[in-house]
Amino acid sequence: MIIGIEGGLVVAFDGSEHRLLEDGIVVFEGDTIVHVGKSYSGRLDKRIDAKKRLVIPGLVNIHSHFASNPFSKSYRGDGTTREVYNSDLFDRGRALSPSITKEDYEKSVSFSVARQLKSGVTTVVEMGAVDALGNRESTDLVGKSGIRAYLLKAVRSGTYYTEDGHDVKFTNFDGNIWDETQGFKQLEGAMKFIEEYNGSHGDRIRSFLYPSAVYNCSPAIFGETRRLADEHGLLITSHVSEAALTFRELLRWYGKTPMEFLHDMGILGKDFIAGHSIVVSGHSASGYSDPWDKDIRLLAETGSTVAHCPIVFSRYGIAMESYSKFLRLGVNMGIGTDSFPQDLLREMSLASTLSKVIEREASVATSIDIFNSATVCGANALHRPDLGRIAVGAKADIAFIKLDSFNMSPMMDPIRNFIQLAESSDVDMVFVGGETLVENGEVIGFDEEQAFTELQRSMDEIAQRIPNNDRLGRSVEDLMAPTFKKWEG
Ligand SMILES: [Zn+2]
Repeated sequence: MIIGIEGGLVVAFDGSEHRLLEDGIVVFEGDTIVHVGKSYSGRLDKRIDAKKRLVIPGLVNIHSHFASNPFSKSYRGDGTTREVYNSDLFDRGRALSPSITKEDYEKSVSFSVARQLKSGVTTVVEMGAVDALGNRESTDLVGKSGIRAYLLKAVRSGTYYTEDGHDVKFTNFDGNIWDETQGFKQLEGAMKFIEEYNGSHGDRIRSFLYPSAVYNCSPAIFGETRRLADEHGLLITSHVSEAALTFRELLRWYGKTPMEFLHDMGILGKDFIAGHSIVVSGHSASGYSDPWDKDIRLLAETGSTVAHCPIVFSRYGIAMESYSKFLRLGVNMGIGTDSFPQDLLREMSLASTLSKVIEREASVATSIDIFNSATVCGANALHRPDLGRIAVGAKADIAFIKLDSFNMSPMMDPIRNFIQLAESSDVDMVFVGGETLVENGEVIGFDEEQAFTELQRSMDEIAQRIPNNDRLGRSVEDLMAPTFKKWEG
């Protein structure tokens, strides 16, 4: 079937940059764009009216966690653990995951897919669903939804815990030596998953290697990950420099910053996505001054990508210093949603605003920068010249943004309005591989009312289980003080 999208204001890619094509026509056949221009004289089986719509390439989210994050809502925010440098990971966050059942995870993964689509995301890198639901279940659930996803299976040599709320320890690690058994077993499992499911669901589901973080994988695991990536042509991602505590731990363990450690392990490179990279050398929370910006330059020199997820850190009072500086020094910057809300539009808007604030300069982190990060830069990180752009030969992954909405009208420049103001309610239609997944702002086949009811039931049950999994048996109210007092009388 040959389908034409007509009459829209199209963000079309000319081979080197995005341009605005007024009253353009985008034609796709099957899952591929076959024509972009002012007119089209060929046969069309179907015409889609895009008048009063900004027609953009589907957004590329290069870092997200579908399974657990809907349940972090309310549980995180308005407070952190000061003793572990304001990260919620190491103490208060620990009781959440073991309190979530597989049934809860199923609901949250479906919810997450719908939430991503509703914010115009068509490609997502996801970490967590496979481990939460199992290889086949996760692949089937996400695959059938129609979204394009990279589902990653985690590898961990150990995990972290604290007995007293300030001294963070690591299982399978005696302070010098990791017990390698678990990590290598998981790496083998990840390779099996990749062999079986990479390219499934019409190649919409892909996968690559995911040693979870610099502080929970041994040097041997990183070494073997690099070897496997080279042998099989796989990408790698990991969590890097996301907290001051782990930045300092790596200095203590190896005498290297997390970025130097990864560089020495041969992990940095054009096939590597560094999740977060917030507390790098020279960052104000690192306690490690660096007027030469060595960590950022390592990323740039090796052609690595950063998955920038500003919202989750902003809740703890932490920001990258700064997105525009990384760009200036030549790092490929993509954007991700990490935790909640799973709304890339809000991440994009905050990425711009925060960087301007950190630099105290309005002309940095521009709408062009952010638009590129969420489209071509993310696609380039995934080595996908067929994503993140509306061009002949690219996948028909397209989103319509309403121009006749409170946010988008009136406009002088549609991209500036889009980056600064657009919300998921402005997303009208979304196509992935030519299939319509969102129509009139609704995710087709997703019953919102039912999903919200079921998720709330899960959330209530999870809250009941949390004290059983907290080291001090703390309730949700103890861990996160309620906001307003209850009405009395
Ligand atoms: Zn993450």
